[in-house]
Amino acid sequence: MIAAKISENLKQSSLIRAMFEEGERMRRKVGAEYVYDFSLGNPDPEPPREFKDALKTLVLQDPPGLHAYMNNAGYPDVREKIAAQINAETGRKLTFQHIVMTCGAGGGLNVVLKTLLNPGEEVIVFTPYFGEYRFYIGNHGGRMVEVPSHLESFEPDLARLEKSITPQTKAVLINSPNNPTGVVYSEKILKEMAGILAKKEREFHSKICLLADEPYRKLVYDDVRLPQIFNIFPHAIVVNSFSKSQSLPGARIGYIAVSDQLEDAPALVDGLVFANRTLGFVNAPGLFQKATAMALDSVVDKGIYEERRNILYQHLIKLGFTCVKPQGAFYLFPKALIEDDMKFKDQALKHNLLIVPGRSFGCPGYFRLAYCVSLQTIERSLPAFEALAREF
Ligand code: PLP
Repeated sequence: MIAAKISENLKQSSLIRAMFEEGERMRRKVGAEYVYDFSLGNPDPEPPREFKDALKTLVLQDPPGLHAYMNNAGYPDVREKIAAQINAETGRKLTFQHIVMTCGAGGGLNVVLKTLLNPGEEVIVFTPYFGEYRFYIGNHGGRMVEVPSHLESFEPDLARLEKSITPQTKAVLINSPNNPTGVVYSEKILKEMAGILAKKEREFHSKICLLADEPYRKLVYDDVRLPQIFNIFPHAIVVNSFSKSQSLPGARIGYIAVSDQLEDAPALVDGLVFANRTLGFVNAPGLFQKATAMALDSVVDKGIYEERRNILYQHLIKLGFTCVKPQGAFYLFPKALIEDDMKFKDQALKHNLLIVPGRSFGCPGYFRLAYCVSLQTIERSLPAFEALAREF
């Protein structure tokens, strides 16, 4: 019954499903507290108090029309507030007309890709990358082109980027802070990247969109300042969401912001709104648009993540793992202790450790740990990592 393409996609994404099922099986067998599940990027801290208060206020005030349709781009006052926040951070001049509210970053990326891509056009991603990108790009007839990162820093290999750009390149998709590595791209790297894109645009008489996927934007540690995409790339689209910064992945709320330097921004935004509508999202959830806008500056307690990162990272280094110290998001991406990351994942399972093999992110030989789990789980898991390391 189902389409061949979906059937093929299901095969490709079966690893994550299999891991989920394995986790459930183990929890039933040994009890949830003895399963150390680092496989999912599902934030465990509660959303910020400001957000919860905003939501309660809205529901209690119960203003007429709160649950009605609105402009498919979202409420103008919410979009205006987001534009003002971006302008305050960047010094740019975005208006509500540069903002489209979306169903999370996943919804936003699909809306952008549907709007941009002609069949067969290329989107460059850097390995390791968020595994869903392959499907998002495929959804809209695009071709994903993988460019490696430098393994010692997980910053993009710009020489390889330059060689990979063709007249078919429509977008370069970056994700910083990164899932799965937690790495934050430096301003220097991004400026060099912008120089390469501008050079290639001149060479091919094309326009290459820099598409920044930034759901982890507010989750940075060690006083790191995230470079401002809009001040580095003129042809930029930024996709953001509240899933991670406000621990709201189930609310499905995010937005697309389009650069005020794009000459064809009005046509692009018309396209985004059309795609948002016709992909069937229609508009982002109205109640959550309002509530997140009321608590726009609130962020989950980052200290919680920073503490977990420090404990886990230091433990792994002590055990002899090689790992780039992440400065953002809530992931670690250490090198597996054997070449075969699938075998390493199976071995970890024997110690009740659920980890995701690097090949799920286009980077075999590594594994991802999502440390958005309780501190108690992390502390309990430390002997299991020790036992695992002893085997190699
Ligand atoms: N992009 C990256 C890099 C992610 O890690 C995720 C979720 O894990 C998403 C996009 C999707 O986020 P959302 O829940 O906002 O759709």
